[in-house]
Amino acid sequence: MNYIVAGGGAVGLATAQVLLQAGHAVVLLERGTIGQEASWAGGGILSPLCPWDYSDAVTRLATRGAVLFEAWVHGLREATGIDPEYEQSGMLVLPPCDAQLAQQWCARNDVPLRQVNAADYDLQLPGDALLLPQVAQVRNPRLLQALRKQVEMLGGHIVENCAVQEFEAEGGRVRKLLTSCGEYSADGYIVTAGAWSKQVLGQYALDLDIKPVRGQMLLYRFDTPPLPHIVLQKDLYLIPRRDGHLLVGSTLEDVGFDKSTTTAACAELMQRAQRLLPQLRDMPVVQQWAGLRPGSPHNVPTIGRHPHLENLYLNSGHFRYGVTMAPASAEILLNELTGATQPFDVAPYASGWGV
Ligand SMILES: Cc1cc2nc3c(=O)[nH]c(=O)nc-3n(C[C@H](O)[C@H](O)[C@H](O)COP(=O)(O)OP(=O)(O)OC[C@H]3O[C@@H](n4cnc5c(N)ncnc54)[C@H](O)[C@@H]3O)c2cc1C
Repeated sequence: MNYIVAGGGAVGLATAQVLLQAGHAVVLLERGTIGQEASWAGGGILSPLCPWDYSDAVTRLATRGAVLFEAWVHGLREATGIDPEYEQSGMLVLPPCDAQLAQQWCARNDVPLRQVNAADYDLQLPGDALLLPQVAQVRNPRLLQALRKQVEMLGGHIVENCAVQEFEAEGGRVRKLLTSCGEYSADGYIVTAGAWSKQVLGQYALDLDIKPVRGQMLLYRFDTPPLPHIVLQKDLYLIPRRDGHLLVGSTLEDVGFDKSTTTAACAELMQRAQRLLPQLRDMPVVQQWAGLRPGSPHNVPTIGRHPHLENLYLNSGHFRYGVTMAPASAEILLNELTGATQPFDVAPYASGWGV
C-alpha cells in the first residue's frame, strides 16, 4: 500500500516511520520545513506533568509512549548516528500538589514515587516534594533530525514547502489531494498536521475540536546542569540538559495561530523560575521561543479512521504530550490499518470526530 502523510512534526514522522517499517510506501508532505513547529518548540519531558490529574485515556497513551521511547531512541541513534539525548533524569514535583492523590495514582499504576526534601536541591523552597525517578527527557530538535533521517533511509519521500490544501472525495473515499505543489493520490491519507489539522481536513473535519494553544519557553545556559532532575511547580517546569542548558516553560495561551513571543510571558516565567532557583537572577535569557500545541478537549488525541471516508485517517490533537505519545500513537494507527491487536482499549481516540 502507499500512503500520504500530511504534516512533518514528531507525530507525522513517527507515523511515516512505522508505515515504512511495515513495508508500505510513504510520501510525507510538509508545508514548511520538517520538524519546526510544536515538536521543535516542546520541552521533551516524556510524561504528563502530573499524571494523576489526567484521565486513563491520556495516561495510558503517554505511559505506552514513555515505555517505547528508550528503545525507539536507541534504534534511531544506531541507524542515523544522531543522538536525541534520551535521559531518565527524573522529575521533582514541588508543592502545591495533592501528594495523597499522587501516591494513590502511582501505587495503582506501579509508578515509583519517593518523598524527598526540596531543600536538598538548591531550590528556594523548604519542605516535602515528590520525586518521580523514572521520568525521562529527550532533546526535541535532535529527535526530529534523527527521525527525518531514518524516514529518508527507509525510503520515505519527504516533500517540503508543500501545503496540503484540499481533499477530493467520491464514493466514500478520498480520490486525490490538492496541494501547493500539485496533485497527489495514494491508497491512504493520514493527517498529522498538529494545530493545523482541522484546517487541513477542511469540510471533512466534522466536529473535530483541535485548536492552537501557544506555549512560550525560555533558555538559560549554565556550565554544568544546575539541577539533577526536571523540576515542576504547578505549570512551571525547569528542564536541565546535560550540556548545561536549562529550559524554563511554559505558558498556555489561547491566541489563535499567533506564534510570536511576548515580554510579559518572558517576565512571568523569569520571575517564577528565579523564585525557585535564585542563581537565575544573575543570568541572561539566551533565547525565547513559542510553539503552537494541537490543543484538544481533555488532552485526548484523535487517532484512526475518518467516520465517513474509508481511506482517510487522523493522528493529531496530542496537545501537551505529543512528543511523549508519538511512538505509541503511531503504533496504534498502524494497528488500525493492519487490523493488529491494540495494546489497550483505543475507543477514546475515536471520539474526537464528534459523530
Ligand atoms: C512550549 C511547548 C512545550 C511542550 N512540552 C512538551 C513536553 O515536554 N513533552 C511532550 O510530550 N510534549 C510537549 N509539548 C507538546 C508537543 O510538542 C506537541 O503535542 C507535539 O509536538 C505535536 O506534534 P505534531 O507532530 O502533531 O505537531 P507539529 O510538530 O506542530 O507538526 C505539525 C506539522 O504539520 C505541518 N502542517 C501544517 N499545515 C500543513 C499543511 N497544510 N500541509 C502540510 N503540512 C502542514 C506543520 O508545518 C508542522 O510541521 C510542548 C509543546 C510546546 C509548544
